[in-house]
Amino acid sequence: MSVTCPICEAEAAEKLPRVSDHVEIICPMCLRFGITTSALSIVYHRLPEDRHAALYQARAIAAQEDKTPLITAEMF
Ligand SMILES: [Zn+2]
Repeated sequence: MSVTCPICEAEAAEKLPRVSDHVEIICPMCLRFGITTSALSIVYHRLPEDRHAALYQARAIAAQEDKTPLITAEMF
């Protein structure tokens, strides 16, 4: 399914099926990451640099736990 990346607004893909509380995006720029539905509802109101900062933060946490980055509303 083709979607707009919530971080960089490039054309991206959503990994389906959608999990209950978050979506997983596969973006050519931002690579693969998850974003919670609550974060998704506010991300478009944030500045691009704040969105990338949230992705950067999610990646740093995921790197420690060896997981797919997950952006949450607390990161904005
Ligand atoms: Zn992106």
